[in-house]
Amino acid sequence: MNVDRTNEDILSTEDSKLSGLDKQRKFLLRMAIQVSPCPVCGDDCSLLEAAGVALNDYALGGVGEPSFRCPANECGVELRQAIPLFVLGGGHWFWMRKHAKNGPQK
Ligand SMILES: [Zn+2]
Repeated sequence: MNVDRTNEDILSTEDSKLSGLDKQRKFLLRMAIQVSPCPVCGDDCSLLEAAGVALNDYALGGVGEPSFRCPANECGVELRQAIPLFVLGGGHWFWMRKHAKNGPQK
């Protein structure tokens, strides 16, 4: 039987019971729930918090890049996720401030 698992389901299932594809999803979900400090205010936030989506609504390999914003009150800086290569070996991604693309800063 081919059951479509929710993200929450995948995270709480042992690797040995997951298909190859679901294992990859689990890896990506783990990254999504990891927290990193905001480079501006230092508050920890996860990808999900910064994107403002619930765990089960998080679409892996979705279209386009989600926009991330620091969820802390009084901060709200736009962020982007920086993924160093070593993350693939179990390291940690981190937040960088998103650079303004057009024009000088106010
Ligand atoms: Zn912040």
